[in-house]
Amino acid sequence: MAKAKARAKAAVKKGAKPSAKAKKMVYFFGGAKADGNAKMKELLGGKGANLAEMAKLGVPVPPGFTITTEVCTYYYQNKKSSPKGLKEQVAVALAKVETIMGKEFGDAANPLLVSVRSGARSSMPGMMETVLNVGLTSQTIPGLVAATGNARFVYDAYRRLIMMYSDVVMEKAAGIEPKEDEGIRRQLERIMDGTKHAKGYKLDTDLTADDLKGLCSQFKVKVREVLGKEFPDDAQAQMWGGINAVFASWQGKRAISYRRIEGIPDEWGTAVNVQSMVFGNMGTDSATGVAFSRNPATGENKFYGEWLVNAQGEDVVAGIRTPNPLNESTKGDQNRHLPSLETAMPKVYKELDAIQKRLEKHYRDMQDIEFTIEKGRLWMLQCRVGKRNGPAAVRMAVDMVKQKLITKEEAVMRVTPAQMDELLHPIIDPKAELAQKALGKGLPAGPGGATGQVVFTAAAAVEWKKQGKKVILVREETNPEDVEGMRAAEAVLTARGGMTSHAALVARGWGKCCIVGCGALHVDLGAKQFHLGGQSFKEGDWITLNGTKGNVYAGQLAMMAAGEENQVLMDFLKVCDAVRRLGVRTNAETTTDAAKARAFGAEGIGLFRTEHMFYGKGSDEPLFILRKMIMSKSEEERKRAVDELFPYVKRDIKGTMEIMDGLPVVVRLLDPPLHEFVPESLEKRQALAQSLGIGMEELSKRADGLHESNPMMGHRGVRLGITYPEVAAMQVRAVFESAAELIKEGKKPHPEIMIPVVCDVNEIKHQLAICKQIYKEVCTKFGIKGFKHMIGTMIEIPRAALLSGQIAEVAEFFSFGTNDLTQMTFGFSRDDIGAFVPDYISKKILAGDPFQSIDQIGVGELIKISIERGRKTNKALEIGICGEQGGEPASVDFCHRVGMDYVSCSPFRVPIARLAAAQAAVRNAKKR
Ligand code: PEP
Ligand code: MG
Repeated sequence: MAKAKARAKAAVKKGAKPSAKAKKMVYFFGGAKADGNAKMKELLGGKGANLAEMAKLGVPVPPGFTITTEVCTYYYQNKKSSPKGLKEQVAVALAKVETIMGKEFGDAANPLLVSVRSGARSSMPGMMETVLNVGLTSQTIPGLVAATGNARFVYDAYRRLIMMYSDVVMEKAAGIEPKEDEGIRRQLERIMDGTKHAKGYKLDTDLTADDLKGLCSQFKVKVREVLGKEFPDDAQAQMWGGINAVFASWQGKRAISYRRIEGIPDEWGTAVNVQSMVFGNMGTDSATGVAFSRNPATGENKFYGEWLVNAQGEDVVAGIRTPNPLNESTKGDQNRHLPSLETAMPKVYKELDAIQKRLEKHYRDMQDIEFTIEKGRLWMLQCRVGKRNGPAAVRMAVDMVKQKLITKEEAVMRVTPAQMDELLHPIIDPKAELAQKALGKGLPAGPGGATGQVVFTAAAAVEWKKQGKKVILVREETNPEDVEGMRAAEAVLTARGGMTSHAALVARGWGKCCIVGCGALHVDLGAKQFHLGGQSFKEGDWITLNGTKGNVYAGQLAMMAAGEENQVLMDFLKVCDAVRRLGVRTNAETTTDAAKARAFGAEGIGLFRTEHMFYGKGSDEPLFILRKMIMSKSEEERKRAVDELFPYVKRDIKGTMEIMDGLPVVVRLLDPPLHEFVPESLEKRQALAQSLGIGMEELSKRADGLHESNPMMGHRGVRLGITYPEVAAMQVRAVFESAAELIKEGKKPHPEIMIPVVCDVNEIKHQLAICKQIYKEVCTKFGIKGFKHMIGTMIEIPRAALLSGQIAEVAEFFSFGTNDLTQMTFGFSRDDIGAFVPDYISKKILAGDPFQSIDQIGVGELIKISIERGRKTNKALEIGICGEQGGEPASVDFCHRVGMDYVSCSPFRVPIARLAAAQAAVRNAKKR
């Protein structure tokens, strides 16, 4: 030890001047002390910050130090070199580690080994590099053999070091790109497989000390032959090689892809953690594992994890051996026969369980932890907030509120809109599934269902997806290099690996259906085939997965939407409702959609598009009458058609109002340009001519008369109501009579009539006179005094936004039609953006599609002006949005900020909007 201290002192002295002034680049942790803490993620990365925090909490953490992300930034800004003073700071920290461990790095008699790992601010599982067992050299090996009395263990550690180091440092970090399956690691694995085969061994653990010693020599020869360099036989050289390789891996292909997908900025950089090695592979009293304080796939509040006896961490994560369950209560069908840590090492399990509970309470969130047991002693290697899928995120949020671990405000921020979306995603139709026999079973790593065509490589998954196909990526084992393919696939199926394997972790993060560890699955990559359950499948064959149960089926099974009957989701949405200020309504025109939306929690209808009754199923009769109406020449002719149409319009409006009983229903008067309804087919034209009692020539003339060069800006919206007041009157009557009838039936209707495509207050005044007249008539007809109703307008033309002060004097509500408002503000035809908006986005002219997410700086400015001017003249003005952006989270946040009363969106987006509205409330309260 004296030697270590002396060396550190010398190091400091040597670099005394620079290091005295140099910024702190190295943060020590260990022995219940740490320079950093959990709040320093930006500087120390997630792993480094949490290691510091755990050390401070007194949790047993192997001592080590973290090199900051700033050093990574320096490395890339300065031709991949290290800043001055780094070497000295590392030496000082390393000396502290040596003191605590009572060992010395590179020492022949009592050598310390370290691991070198990456650690970005936000976790990037498996995307960057790790080197373990650093410090094993021809000098230190004999000392370690003597100290452990276990030559097999030492040579096994050495062969792992050579494999990892040559792969990570000498190949990847050096920028060498080997051919598929020809990387140095694969080549070394083949040598090892050769030895196992020659000796008739099945498992790696069958290899003896002498076998491993021989293998290490062969490995070193191979490394020299393939990479043209010696494997370094110096502890310091190994450590610095590892540190630089971690920095280099920040710009590795995998890491870059992952960052693109997750939206992690390139500038962040990674920290490097150098930590003393502890060994889970020192015999049957040693083990290693990965665990979660709650189940990351279901959210169930049970300590959940996997472990392997006599193994190193990489064995669990890489999915090479199928791991054992952590405890008895979380055993499933696939692993019931395997031993749990709870029974195999009860004392250690108890200690681990206490630590995980403490960590969850301390961090107030589900923890993902890695641990190692070395000769019966427990060490915590890592803790971080665990990734989870949508169902788990929702359940944990609800449970933690109930446990009073977190507030409602915190709970709503724990679930992303994308995670909630997963709960609304399809599952296999249970009936279809019941009729099928599963081909095989694996671990249910990512719930939900998926059906797709089999592909075997990530590249094929990406390619097929581009062609619009649905694919399922089938692999022997999990591989971080496959991220892009996993992303493109509907689901992932692997033969090996556990619930914490890379595939499981990544798929879960994305809410993807995923099955791992399907032991009976045999993948023949060369022949592009797999065998399971006595059947063979080629590339392109269809299969279906149930990721909730872990079942694999042949063929394409029927899928169905999930969501509504999910009680936990409903509970979570209630939490959201308690937090949000914005109301959430839906855009719906049919009783089915209205019922679905109400079940999802819609608080009324924000847009009932009358014209929808003329499209699709059941529209033949009303459409025919509508056509008669628009083809009418005289007012009398038109009035007849209008009267004929009335019962159909009333039927649909009344049905929807009935379902929304007690809640507001905004019915919009007819909006589209009439020529859209002119029939094209001869047969239909003939029937129409006959019904109108006119010839075909006359019909064609009338049809041509309806033609418009620019219908979107033509005879539509309120303009129809101005030229054909009887058409507007009929619709208003349908709304008010529906309400009156419902009142008579004991219901509480709340109609709101909305006038579309308005640009001037006089248009509204004109329509208002009609509405008032009809209202009076209806009240008299039904013998009622009156009922609650409102008459308002859409704001979807920039002129209307600017003149909102005048308009609000007569309108009782505004609803922003941001589809048209975007169209008219940009001058982009909403039906033709496909030709150029994608280029605008790829060339970064626009940040995104303004028809999906409100253009806050342009269209948003008009909305702000409109709200301000409208509320100035009408304090009671009710304000909402009914354009498609109304269910998109960023737009919902905007609507909250500008003070709207509600958003309205399609039924399936209602839950997302409820969450987004709650998050907007929390986020903006924080800012204030
Ligand atoms: C709008 O313009 O935003 C709107 C809701 O109306 P439509 O899409 O029917 O034009
Ligand atoms: Mg519109």
